[in-house]
Amino acid sequence: MRALLLKHIGLVAAALVACLIAGAGAATAQDIRIQGVAPQKTAPPYVPGAELVVATRLIPPFVMDKGAKGKTPGTGELEGFSVELWQAIANETGLKSRFQVYPTLPALLDSVRTGANPAGIAAISVTSDRALVMDFSQPMFRSGLSILVPAGGRPGLAVFASFITSDVLAALAVFFALLLIPAHLFWFMQRGRKEGEWLVPKSYGRGMAETLYWSAEAMIGQASATAKSWYGRFLAFVWKAAGVLLIAYFTALIATTLTVSSLRGGIEGPADLIGKRVATISGSTSARYLRELKADPLEFDNFDQAVEYMLKGQAIATVYDTPMILFYARHAGNGRVKVAGSPFRTEDYGIVFPAGSDLRPVVNAGLLKTVENGTYQAIYDKWFGSDNSR
Ligand code: GLU
Repeated sequence: MRALLLKHIGLVAAALVACLIAGAGAATAQDIRIQGVAPQKTAPPYVPGAELVVATRLIPPFVMDKGAKGKTPGTGELEGFSVELWQAIANETGLKSRFQVYPTLPALLDSVRTGANPAGIAAISVTSDRALVMDFSQPMFRSGLSILVPAGGRPGLAVFASFITSDVLAALAVFFALLLIPAHLFWFMQRGRKEGEWLVPKSYGRGMAETLYWSAEAMIGQASATAKSWYGRFLAFVWKAAGVLLIAYFTALIATTLTVSSLRGGIEGPADLIGKRVATISGSTSARYLRELKADPLEFDNFDQAVEYMLKGQAIATVYDTPMILFYARHAGNGRVKVAGSPFRTEDYGIVFPAGSDLRPVVNAGLLKTVENGTYQAIYDKWFGSDNSR
């Protein structure tokens, strides 16, 4: 009996240990970091002299089609800050390469993470999540996030529209529904009779038209003059008292709806985006930021689609990387959009490699060389003006 009991205890203990091991096997990315386990190597071996197919995506002003009119986007020659930086690194290190353009950020990241492409360059932010499953070069660009909103607009109307919320509409609906009660009571008791100088119509339609008007008047304290009978006066009194409460409630509701930010009518920082529909790009650091902020992000494959959606009035703003937002506001979106507030989060861009890449040290050395010999600054100045901050 005792032996049997011990055997059972042993079995339960073994099952517990098995569960713990299985749990560790299904560890999340977070756990891997905590346990200090390096991501599984996915990088193909680096063969010096072989042509590298570098993953990228169109993302002005980092990667753009060079005069690709009429051609399928991404099939022509490329230009832009990241394109020229990669070419400079390749020149420094003797790497042979060509670009492969991916349509979306997740597709670009996956191609590198799985080792299908030995490197990727565009405007890829260095993040802790990504660093767990792939390798990054030294930072190549200091960036951040910004907010883009439609230009102009009618602030007066915007302020008006800002207090037409579902709460205010619901309160208005309740108010009109309540008007029907005294209107019906009064019509039901007085229909076809004289009320002072006033003959309350017998038919329901005309009767309602007048008694509704009477009950609306009563609510703002005017109707006692028209009601002469005791129940007319009584109803008017009760409804007036209810009206005082309703108006107080309504005033309080509008006062809370008209928060300071909606009175300003504008967006000045991330706090103004909480709970609001905001356009952004799938799989980007902006999309993640907006989810954490508790905004309501709608994600698009590319920035142009996100901005078009916002300009149709379906999102109040677009959140994305500052350089892309500034470039868009100065070029394609000039006059149609404006930047709201200042950049609110700094991020670095890096070149990505599959985990365990031996190409990375080569590229890092080339990148640092371009910084040391001034090539980096020349490319930076060409695309971003002679501002010294990277
Ligand atoms: N820098 C952002 C990110 O890495 C956006 C990049 C992109 O849209 O390609 O998440």
